[in-house]
Amino acid sequence: MPTRDQVEKMASAVRTSALPSPGLAPDGDLPSEYWQALLEDARADVGRPGPGSSARLLQLSQIPQHLLRVSCRRCARTVEIQRVDAVRLYGSDAVWKDVGQRLLDNTCSNRTGRHEEDGCWPSYDTP
Ligand SMILES: [Zn+2]
Repeated sequence: MPTRDQVEKMASAVRTSALPSPGLAPDGDLPSEYWQALLEDARADVGRPGPGSSARLLQLSQIPQHLLRVSCRRCARTVEIQRVDAVRLYGSDAVWKDVGQRLLDNTCSNRTGRHEEDGCWPSYDTP
């Protein structure tokens, strides 16, 4: 989880015409939407303290919901999975964040072949 300083750094990176800071982006060509997504994530966490804000960091066994949902900011897909199915696939001690990322990556349609760009940008709706 980014600290307030890191958030500020990312914020200024977005503001200055999305020039990525060299330390964070060795290739220097990450799309600005990526930083925007990171930033929104960080802001969401900062602005929403409390039990609900860290559900994506919970293990599957700790999540009260029966239906888990993760959506991708890149290809705009939403993947839903019953918690019991997720447990069966990944184990009850798997972290929902990792499970959701894997679910998206398994079916991601936005592959470029570049490590930095490949894969989905998960957005966790739960809860
Ligand atoms: Zn995707």
